[in-house]
Amino acid sequence: MRILIASSEVYPYSKSGGLADMVCALAKFLARAGHQVGLVTPLYGGIRERFPDIKRFDWRLMLPMGDELVEGQVWIRSLPDGLNIYFIDNPSFYGRAELYGRHTGDYPDNAKRFLFLCKSVVNLARYLPWQPEVLHVHDWHTALTAPLVFNERTRGGWTDSPPVCCTLHNLAYQGIFPAEEFALTNLPSDYFRPNGMEYYGKMNCLKAGIVYSDLITTVSRRYALEATTEQFGCGLDGVLSEKREVFVGIVNGVDYEEWTTESNPYLRYSFDSHNLRGKESIKRGLQEEMRLPARANVPLFGSIGRLAEQKGVDILLGSLEEMLSADMQFVLLGSGSRDFERAFRKLALRHPSKCAIKIGFDTGLSHRIEAGCDFFLMPSRFEPCGLNQMYSLRYGTIPIVRITGGLDDCVIDMVEDPENANGIKFAQYSIQAQSQAIRKALILYNEKELLDVMRQNGMAMDFSWKRTASEYLLYYRQLLSNVGKR
Ligand code: ADP
Repeated sequence: MRILIASSEVYPYSKSGGLADMVCALAKFLARAGHQVGLVTPLYGGIRERFPDIKRFDWRLMLPMGDELVEGQVWIRSLPDGLNIYFIDNPSFYGRAELYGRHTGDYPDNAKRFLFLCKSVVNLARYLPWQPEVLHVHDWHTALTAPLVFNERTRGGWTDSPPVCCTLHNLAYQGIFPAEEFALTNLPSDYFRPNGMEYYGKMNCLKAGIVYSDLITTVSRRYALEATTEQFGCGLDGVLSEKREVFVGIVNGVDYEEWTTESNPYLRYSFDSHNLRGKESIKRGLQEEMRLPARANVPLFGSIGRLAEQKGVDILLGSLEEMLSADMQFVLLGSGSRDFERAFRKLALRHPSKCAIKIGFDTGLSHRIEAGCDFFLMPSRFEPCGLNQMYSLRYGTIPIVRITGGLDDCVIDMVEDPENANGIKFAQYSIQAQSQAIRKALILYNEKELLDVMRQNGMAMDFSWKRTASEYLLYYRQLLSNVGKR
């Protein structure tokens, strides 16, 4: 199959979050499976210096943006497995220090910057000699590709245009701009209406992606259901409900080449589901690294991530206040809200032999926490997919999660399925519910046989990208089979 993917960030060229990793892994695994894959992304400042094998592509862009024609170049990097990355070059748009804005706020011309990206994607999709059969865009930055393709298909004579799949990674970011920016799209005015891309008098890029795409996906099955509710839909629940028939959830994958318990450069010992001795040694090393008493028989809990409201930090803090009176230890790696950072520091000062905190970003330590802990805490308010619960499972660490989004998709509680249980789940967003789940973990810790079975169940789960990519392929095929019917 011939697939063109577009994203505002792609690892290792640019990254602000999980989107960059997801797009990189999806493209890599599709190409490895023998498909022709192209990736379109901006040429941000510094990329060419870091990747000197990027070459100028014989392609000049001259795109209408309202009344002006805007010029751009295309650069290309071809990887050995057949993956081509097309970099859109327009220094005045992309040659900046940050991807989306400074700490003071978003760049004021973001509508123009990413509309130019979308128009470049459409131009490549239409004229590339290898003729992509499916177009896959991600989040609001590339979502306007969908109405642009739809318009070319219905009014521009591009009758065999590829179907568009739009993936929603986080509904909280929609790309909402003043109505005047709509002129930059050069679309007929009837696109700017409530059942099109208009949203309370403004232009909403993500809504446009939802309305005009042929398939909408999000990053877990549960989040696909939640997104159609008022509580989680961020104002787009109605539009998503209308597209329910073509809206599906596909859980992201894990790169098991990196997240491995064997010969992992970040872990001093290897282990597997039948021999957990290495895990015990990593636990001791982690306790020493975090300056906690190195006790083998104390249950060690961990947490990693952005210290933001979304992650349920308030109920985690409240519950630890209460639970640290028990015989347990807790380690945290994260950064974010200054108030949360301060609260965790205070907690550690009050419980120096039970609680240790590292504020910052540290990939090596994140592996050691995932591998060295007995339990991993994720009480998120909402979690479109989440990765840490999947890492925990692979590392034989029992995840304790709130039932939401991808956490619900990946973790199986004893109550749901005693034979295949791999974690502990709780429903209510409250300190009491989090504490109750920790109490369950303390009991489980003393039931060694059951604990081992649950660890083995978790380690046997397959969240590989190979599986995720084949699920996307299944949907791409369905899209292709519908092309003849439109
Ligand atoms: P989100 O994208 O909402 O932040 P995810 O769980 O989907 O949450 O992905 C976050 C990724 O970033 C995970 O791989 C997690 O381990 C990693 N991460 C988050 N904070 C840190 C940190 N302080 N140090 C190292 N890795 C981190």
